[in-house]
Amino acid sequence: MTITRFAPSPTGRLHVGNIRTALHNWMLAQISGGEFILRIDDTDAARSKEEYVEAIRNDLAWLGIEATREERQSSRLDRYQAAFDTLVAAGRIYPAYETQQELELKRKVLLGRGKPPIYDRGALDLTDAERAAKEADGIQPHWRFKLDHDEPLSWEDGVRGSVNFDPALLSDPVIRRADGSWLYMLPSTVDDVEMGVTQVLRGEDHVSNTAVQIQMFTAMGATPPKFAHEALLVGTEGKLSKRLGSLGCDAFRERGIEPEAIIALLSRLGTSLPVEPIADRAKLLETFDLSTFGRAPAKFDDAELERVNTALVHAMPYTSVKHRLPDGMDEAGWHAVQPNIATVDEVSEWWRLVTGPIEQPEFSDEDRAYLAEASEALEWGDDPWATLTSSLKEATGRKGKALFLPLRQALTGMNHGPDMGELLPLIGEEEARARLSKAAG
Ligand code: GLU
Repeated sequence: MTITRFAPSPTGRLHVGNIRTALHNWMLAQISGGEFILRIDDTDAARSKEEYVEAIRNDLAWLGIEATREERQSSRLDRYQAAFDTLVAAGRIYPAYETQQELELKRKVLLGRGKPPIYDRGALDLTDAERAAKEADGIQPHWRFKLDHDEPLSWEDGVRGSVNFDPALLSDPVIRRADGSWLYMLPSTVDDVEMGVTQVLRGEDHVSNTAVQIQMFTAMGATPPKFAHEALLVGTEGKLSKRLGSLGCDAFRERGIEPEAIIALLSRLGTSLPVEPIADRAKLLETFDLSTFGRAPAKFDDAELERVNTALVHAMPYTSVKHRLPDGMDEAGWHAVQPNIATVDEVSEWWRLVTGPIEQPEFSDEDRAYLAEASEALEWGDDPWATLTSSLKEATGRKGKALFLPLRQALTGMNHGPDMGELLPLIGEEEARARLSKAAG
């Protein structure tokens, strides 16, 4: 069984990049009937906020990508401590006492000599007495994971293919701060092991973390999960813009973007499959396949999202939208207005034309006479608009715009809008007659 996880830190709202990662993990679990875990990475007590945890849950619920299980790192600190103790005892985690400044100096020296700024493992050379002296001086150590330089770091990445790192070219990562707080690396690995995660799918900014974490898995006696790193999401201007980083569900909702439009777009963006306005998730799931993911950054384009959204709104069945429509608007009303809207919210503007009151323009004397004739000629049958316009055409010789526009203006107050054949029956006989006579003056 596939077990995936989405692991946001609750230090802010989800943005479109996180949403995409969450969606893909959800989809991977869905296609195999597996589990999708929401893991709240809240070990950073100072920056993590409960309101963001709530917001993350709500956003995922709105998007319809709900987790089968929720886990929180802050309630698993004892697990991290246990793994830490084991790895310290095994010599895979060691204390280091350098200050930020010392480390910075070492980096500069190496860079100055044209060497990669890899940590020199100075802390491993300390004798017990030297360590004791540091601690007696009140220097608390931070902790590093000791990479095994003989264990090759390679994996078959679900998106990037074969990936290889030379462990000797990586610094032993700091995994715990001097104040005892955790950095991301070890807790995440402990969780992936203990939660049985089989597939880790995340952004390519995590590729070098994966290299290190693979050794943590083996150091803990576990088999690493499968890994896949998707190319980052960029704006149309080609980089991960500030705007994109703050673009989240609230902004989408405000603009009338349907969750299904976001899902349809993000499930295909950056893959070799075309982005299509597909509302049926089963269809999106059928074609979802990591092997279709490209390595080039995926470009997020607002205009494309809007196109997908509009196409989905135009295809939305009444039953799925009915609870969101203005009072009194029935299926015929929805069908009349649907082709004219880009977002469901726009429905009410058009619906006002039916319910009134409307504001008519000033008409010329000639048009007033024409509209008086129209109010006389109005007959209520199966298709009052067709009947009215064909009889007026015959009686007045008007055609095209001269025939239709004054009628539309008198009946709706607008120069354009939904199909009059559908709108007129909704306005109703009495109101239509009243509007025509009013316009006739
Ligand atoms: N909390 C980490 C992040 O937000 C999770 C990364 C991961 O998926 O392992 O980047």
